[in-house]
Amino acid sequence: MDTRLLFQDPATFTTPLLAAFAVDIATGKDAEPLVALMTTSDAISNAAARVLGAGEFKATLGETLLLHAPSGLKAERLLIVGVGKVKTLSVNEIRKGAGTAIRALKPRGLRELAIALPEDHALSDEHLESLPCLLMSRALVEGAELAEVDYDTYRSDRKDLSVQALTVLASESDKMTRAEIQSGFEEGLILAAAQNFTRSLVNEPGNVLTPTVLGQRAAAMCAEVGLRCEVHSTAKLHELGMGAFWAVSQGSAEPPALIVMTYEPAGSPAGGPVLGLVGKGITFDTGGISIKPSEGMEKMKYDMAGAGAMIGAMRAIAQLKPAVKVIGIVCSAENMPDGKAFKPGDVVTAMSGKTIEIINTDAEGRLVLADGLHYAKTLGCTHLIDAATLTGACVIALGTLNVGLFSNDEATVESFQAGLRVSGEQFWRLPCTDDYRDQIKSQIADIMNTGKNRYGGAITAAMFLKEFVGETPWIHLDIAGCAWNDESKHWLANGPTGIAVRSITEWVRSY
Ligand SMILES: [Zn+2]
Repeated sequence: MDTRLLFQDPATFTTPLLAAFAVDIATGKDAEPLVALMTTSDAISNAAARVLGAGEFKATLGETLLLHAPSGLKAERLLIVGVGKVKTLSVNEIRKGAGTAIRALKPRGLRELAIALPEDHALSDEHLESLPCLLMSRALVEGAELAEVDYDTYRSDRKDLSVQALTVLASESDKMTRAEIQSGFEEGLILAAAQNFTRSLVNEPGNVLTPTVLGQRAAAMCAEVGLRCEVHSTAKLHELGMGAFWAVSQGSAEPPALIVMTYEPAGSPAGGPVLGLVGKGITFDTGGISIKPSEGMEKMKYDMAGAGAMIGAMRAIAQLKPAVKVIGIVCSAENMPDGKAFKPGDVVTAMSGKTIEIINTDAEGRLVLADGLHYAKTLGCTHLIDAATLTGACVIALGTLNVGLFSNDEATVESFQAGLRVSGEQFWRLPCTDDYRDQIKSQIADIMNTGKNRYGGAITAAMFLKEFVGETPWIHLDIAGCAWNDESKHWLANGPTGIAVRSITEWVRSY
């Protein structure tokens, strides 16, 4: 999609379709909806006055209303997009509103549109708190770019419904300067492209995206944006003593990939923080010898979504150029049952020297991450974050709307959470305090790779990772429930979501 920003009155812009947002500004309990357009353009308000006055359109989130030949506008159509109630309005609703406009366009066979950047005159200062003006253009572009993609990649009858051009029409105000709108717009393009890159990786089937191919795609991306990238395989795992990572990969005919991406800003001070981004990259998870039930197993191609998130975040970081060194580490393998596969009861030695009793070979993500996290520390990382589709237990606990967040450090959590207001993604913190440690004690080895029973499975997985993090400030994100969107929404196709790319990038930028 060719996306551009123009400072122009939307009424004077010639386009097949102009979209404008509408919000319900009624605030009283049980009050009837009172719809206001988020634009200062009198021409748009006049064109929509009659239909809005009829009270049929409530401006609920994702609701749309299409007017042909709107009087007083150069546009051939006016699409009014609801973004819900004013009291719940945040940048997320702007993102979803923009996505709704894009997806409303596709089935109509239209190839281009313009969206009027929402203006804040209809909102009180209290609401501006949750809807910072300078984020508006960024959120709009992110929502539009994410909504443009469909995941029917390998269908022969694939219809090209792609939207070719989006023009964002903005005007500056006392609350939004031209420079703020412009920089938000440019950041939005970078972040959405990174997130879509992640989604394109997660979308690929396991026979296409093997660990080797994931390494190649990461290396190609790094070359494009100017990051240093090394991709290692079996020999390096043995050299480093990554016995946990190797155990997972040993049952597959596909060799593992250890991908190391480095971003180092010019003049970054010695002794400053170094952030380590570690992603679980199981390109297909059968469960291994502890094989999964066949139902739904095809979705296990998504078990590299944590790796995808880190590769996407590194892409955004290379372009946004924060003033901190960042090392992205991906531990990629295929988890297969085979004569050479690791087995329940096996004891393996991780890179850190800790011995691990394997109870369940389907708890493999924590094994590859154990070595990835330890390796990150040996490379000098002072702060760690990992992302993984780690446990079904996390999906049971939090559903598909919140990512499970675990940490051993309050300040790191605070800096991560501060960025969520900008990224708009949802995370919910769960405990990983030391009193859970008994759950993963093994009789024969230092620890075992599952808890003693199935209770608190997301927590025991985090406790396992914590063993390899030690005192280093660390955040663990269990994205199992949020990495795949099972049902199409008004603003997003079903398929991979690219969850956590924006939030991780925002966290990195806070240093
Ligand atoms: Zn598994």
